[in-house]
Amino acid sequence: MSLEVPASQQRRCAVHPDQPAGGTCTRCGSFICADCATSVPGLGVRLYCVACAARPDVNYLEALRQRYLGRRDEWAWVVGGVTLLLCVTVVAALALWGPGTRRQSLFLLVLLIPVPVGVAFFLGQRWARHALLATPLVVAVAADALYRDARFLFLLCLVPSMVTALRIHRDVRNQLFFRLPVSPEALKVMWNRRFNNRIARHALRFGLGAVLLPLWAPIAVICGAVALTRVDPKATPPIGRRGQALTGIFLGLVSPLLWWFVLLPVLDRWLSPMFYK
Ligand SMILES: [Zn+2]
Ligand SMILES: [Zn+2]
Repeated sequence: MSLEVPASQQRRCAVHPDQPAGGTCTRCGSFICADCATSVPGLGVRLYCVACAARPDVNYLEALRQRYLGRRDEWAWVVGGVTLLLCVTVVAALALWGPGTRRQSLFLLVLLIPVPVGVAFFLGQRWARHALLATPLVVAVAADALYRDARFLFLLCLVPSMVTALRIHRDVRNQLFFRLPVSPEALKVMWNRRFNNRIARHALRFGLGAVLLPLWAPIAVICGAVALTRVDPKATPPIGRRGQALTGIFLGLVSPLLWWFVLLPVLDRWLSPMFYK
């Protein structure tokens, strides 16, 4: 009698029948091979089959992706708003002053250059993402050609516009609006910024504010205490920012003492000669 299990009876991967299974999927229980075994961010050592690892109820990053995919973000509304503002400006200028000189009417035309890009961006046309990067430069060059003496002003508008356009281009939430593929790492950064124990960030902000204005101290302590109760690294998804919550509480407790023992006597020494001389 042999203890060896015949090859036909060995556990096999449900997807790759030629591969031996190393374990089972935590969710559906099907056999998975080494190739299929997938870990999910925030779920530690638990392994899933590929299909289950992509499910929004298992993978919170996938849930986040599906929640925002194709949904208009804040930047799309900003671009849409600026586009509308440009149209209103041009219409108002025409209504108030008429077409004016040839140079003035050409300048109004230059102001309309971003409009098709803005409309396409608002509607989620992918080409508009790239066109938006070039638009400020095109407008500035065209405006400069018409009014040479205003070059400094155009440059002053160009720099922040280009920086904003670049920020929009790199924004993960905006990329989801355009249905672009986004890496799990980028999704995690976005989740962390938007959803990971935000009250701990408020605690830190109020704590820093309390150093300048001790009135913020109780708010910092309350926010920090609430945030601290929410910290749970083992939850799905994991809730962090313990450090920020603790710092907020610390600053909230220390800043009134700092004011009482250090800053008030200093202020008193500076201010009293002014008032009581
Ligand atoms: Zn599964
Ligand atoms: Zn497999």
